[in-house]
Order: sequence, then structure tokens, then C-alpha cells
Amino acid sequence: MNSTKTIGIIGGGQLGQMMAISAIYMGHKVVTLDPTKDCPASRVSDMIVAPYDDVDAMRELAERCDVLTYEFENVDADALDAVVKDNQLPQGTDLLRISQNRIFEKNFLSQKAGVKVAPYKVVTSSLDLENIDLSKNYVLKTATGGYDGHGQIVIKSADNLADANKLANSCECVLEEFVNFDLEISVIVSGNGKDMTVFPVQENIHRNNILSKTIVPARISDELAKKAQAMAVQIAEKLELSGTLCVEMFATSDDIIVNEIAPRPHNSGHYSIEACDFSQFDTHILGILGLPLPKIHLHQPAVMLNVLGQHMDKARAYVKENPSAHLHLYGKLEAKHNRKMGHITLFSSEPDTIAEMGEGMDF
Ligand code: AMP
Repeated sequence: MNSTKTIGIIGGGQLGQMMAISAIYMGHKVVTLDPTKDCPASRVSDMIVAPYDDVDAMRELAERCDVLTYEFENVDADALDAVVKDNQLPQGTDLLRISQNRIFEKNFLSQKAGVKVAPYKVVTSSLDLENIDLSKNYVLKTATGGYDGHGQIVIKSADNLADANKLANSCECVLEEFVNFDLEISVIVSGNGKDMTVFPVQENIHRNNILSKTIVPARISDELAKKAQAMAVQIAEKLELSGTLCVEMFATSDDIIVNEIAPRPHNSGHYSIEACDFSQFDTHILGILGLPLPKIHLHQPAVMLNVLGQHMDKARAYVKENPSAHLHLYGKLEAKHNRKMGHITLFSSEPDTIAEMGEGMDF
């Protein structure tokens, strides 16, 4: 049997590029569908250059590949269902549908997967906000299309209600209770449809709603870390997960609350390329191919710093001064403000001594 596969990736950004690199060193071939000819994955894969809603292009990808995967969750699930052959998309489209809509996602997490989420209710218009108890704080989030804090309004007093009502009348939303968390954490889990493997718990620091620094292992008790990993595995098992999934969570002093899931490798898991014996991209490829998955070992505590457009000069200078830091650049042609251009991973058990790239500048 020929074990070399052609893997089709929808989306050729940095996640697609790093998936492709893992696939290539395992001997596979990669074709990427992306609207931008010079996207990061174009350096390491064959390309189909077309918009994501071009069904013919998606069909061509399916025809040229043995297995398909995606690097982002907003793929048209119906279009994908229409073009894939049996078992060609091991991740399935249910997972896409769940993670595209916060209502489906919250319902799935709390009712099917049985993990704790912040108390929430579905909001279909401002009428649903009329009688909320303003002794509590909330976050109102659009059900679809929100990302990195976009499409969200924090409600701390009646002063915020005008904006919240406007959002609630413009689209379907979820109203969540505000969680007074100590830390934001995430857990990467990968599956091959049957068995799951889980990565160490990551602690995430955001600036302007963009991930800035990840610290591994997260500075929480062993008991909470085990609980977070067990919750991630529980979610993955319910999904009969194939490939990699990231579970974003809040850690309070004595509990873990799940915020959301991303059905793909995640920025907070990039440290695993150097710091673990297998990366989140390696286990994604193994998982979608239905191959056995390794138990993950963290070599040493690590810190990952994101490099945004405004940090490029600083990042290059940083690795000249710190040659044991690993600088990854994704090969994006234009270094726009706040665009993720790369990241730096370094080994350290003193994460507080490592400044974020944006520190000392306006982030
Ligand atoms: P999300 O788009 O759900 O990832 O939310 C973006 C950010 O908003 C999170 O990383 C948190 O910092 C914050 N956030 C989201 N939901 C809540 C919540 N229920 N309570 C407190 N902070 C939240």
C-alpha cells in the first residue's frame, strides 16, 4: 500500500503553511486552496488560487487530493459537503458548523460535551436584554462572524445597554456572564477518530484581543491543569475528533470554564514545534490520516512571543541578541500593523523575565 498521500488544505496562511511543512517531512504532498497567490503556504505546496466560495475550485482540490483539511473555521460547510467523497474530510463538517456559531458551540459544549461554560442565553433582539440583572457583568457576542473580540460588547452598567441593544437588534447573539478569571489558558488536543492525545496547558496573554505571549506550562495548580486537559479530551471524544482542536478556557482560583473551541491548530500551540516531541501540526496530519498518535512530551518550559507587523525589526534584533530563540517568519509580503507575521519560541522557566514584542512600544 502506498502510504504517501496528497493532502488538500483549504487556507494557505501560517497555519496551512505549518501543516504543510509537517506533512511534507512525513513524505506527503500538499495542495493548498487560497485566494492569494503568494500566501505563506505557497512556499511549501502546490496552489489552487481561487476565492473560498468558488465551488469548482473546491471540487478541483477534492479531485486532486486523497484527504482534505482546513486551517480556519469559516469554510462553507455546505459547499464542502457537496464536493467531498466518502471519508475524504476526516474532521467532518459538523465540527465546522459547531464552531461557526456560538449558539451551537455553547449548546454543544454544555449539553453534549458536558463541560462548564459561563452561564449564557441566546439573544435574538433587544427585548431579550430588557430584564437582565445588572448586578452582574456580561459579554454580548454575535453568534456568527465574531473573532478576536470583534462583535463583542461588555455590559457592566446600564450605560452599555444602548450599544448592546443595537448589536442585539442587528443579528443573533449570545449573552454570557462575565467571568472574573485569573488566567486565560488553552489546551491543544488531537485525535485520529478513535484515540486522543493532549498537549500541556498553555497560559495566554492577549493585547488588544490579539495573542501576545504564551507560557507553557500554564501557572496553575497540577489539579486544575489535569482538569483542563481532561475537559479538552472529553470534548474531543464527544466529537470523535480527527486532527487538532484548540480549547480556549478561563482558569479561576478553583475552576476551569470553557470559552470556545477552534477546530484546527492554534496560535497558542506554536511553541510545540520546538518545545514538544511532536508539534500540534504533526499530530494534526497524523490524526487526519487516521494514524496512531504519540503521547506528547514537553522537553522544557517554553515561552512563545507573537511577532506582529509593527514588531518585525525588533524580532530580528531580538534573535541576534538571543541566538537560542527560534524565530519563525511566515513569509507574508506586507508587514501590516497587527498582522501576524511570525513568532519566537524560547525555552525558559522564568516567563516573567521575557518581554513581549510590543512591550515598550504601543503594542
Ligand atoms: P472570544 O472571542 O470569545 O475568544 O473572546 C475574546 C476575549 O474576550 C477573550 O480572550 C477574553 O479575554 C474576553 N472574554 C470573552 N468572553 C468572556 C467572558 N464570558 N468573561 C470574561 N471575559 C471574556
